[in-house]
Amino acid sequence: MRIIEEKDKFCNALISWYNDEKRDLPWRQTSNPYYIWVSEVMLQQTRVDTVIPYYNRFITRYPTMESLANADEDELLKMWEGLGYYSRARNLQSGVREVVEKYDSKVPENRKEISTLKGVGPYTAGAVLSIAFGIPEHAVDGNVMRVLSRLLLIEEDITIPRTKRIFEEVIMELIDQEDPSSFNQGLMELGATICTPRPKCLLCPVRTFCSAFDEGRQDELPVRTRKKKSKIVPVASFAIQNKNGDWLLRKRPKTGLLANLWEFPIIEVKDDRKPIEIFTAEIGLPIKSLSEVIAFKHIFTHITWEMNGYRARLNEEEPVPEGYQFFTKDEVETLPKPVPIIKIWESIKNGGI
Ligand code: SF4
Repeated sequence: MRIIEEKDKFCNALISWYNDEKRDLPWRQTSNPYYIWVSEVMLQQTRVDTVIPYYNRFITRYPTMESLANADEDELLKMWEGLGYYSRARNLQSGVREVVEKYDSKVPENRKEISTLKGVGPYTAGAVLSIAFGIPEHAVDGNVMRVLSRLLLIEEDITIPRTKRIFEEVIMELIDQEDPSSFNQGLMELGATICTPRPKCLLCPVRTFCSAFDEGRQDELPVRTRKKKSKIVPVASFAIQNKNGDWLLRKRPKTGLLANLWEFPIIEVKDDRKPIEIFTAEIGLPIKSLSEVIAFKHIFTHITWEMNGYRARLNEEEPVPEGYQFFTKDEVETLPKPVPIIKIWESIKNGGI
């Protein structure tokens, strides 16, 4: 296979292309391991364009690991609001606290120790070690598996977790010892801009090393046999105002989906009853002036919410249900909320409060 036989030439082609063509991204202007760690966590499952303003705000608000370690959780979640996968933010804070407390605020420079930090999986560990410290370590995510499966014609199913090991071993064999940072980032950049699901092979800097291109099989790779099944869950949420115009919200439980974020009352529509009937049975508040404000789908990793958002008014002075509180409009703005609740809130505001 050319890529293995001509490993140095391949590394040179990849690295020089990366150095000439790389996108100017804020986390590429630093070798601070904490900043690189933050960027890698934010970039998981999220597009670069979305991440840039979040990253800049986050680094400005929490410029040091100590500042993040001491941050209030509600404020941290507010900074993360809209990025989704909120457990990433909480894990990042826990991991950073460990570094501050156990490692004297110095991110460990070896895979064994860095991998013990909360939220730091094999990919994040390799990305931080190679990019911040120049250590030749693998950083394999879905993009990198797509690129390598094509370059080397690897036909193992990438939806099977143990397949990742094959790609990690390939990287350890190929990685440039002098500049592992540009090597890893070059592969990531290639996957993000050229060797995309629909590859732009004619623009590819490493086309002459690509086995899939040679055989015209680039569209068949990577191999994915198992499709993730997403369970559809119909839900309804009710934005309810009392006679003072305040809004009823509760904080979600400490663990599980969207933990610790604030929401309007949400019910699952499990049977043929109307959402309002289920709401009355489960939450027990008499409401009036019910109107639907928005309907949309929100996709999580394993489930999809089919959401109907309503606004309503409290019928009369009622005791607040357990776990709920009323908030003014300004207070609602400052609470960290998950994206589906933000959508309902925005559509209410657009319709006039
Ligand atoms: Fe990907 Fe095409 Fe380049 Fe091969 S030649 S690495 S398939 S973009």
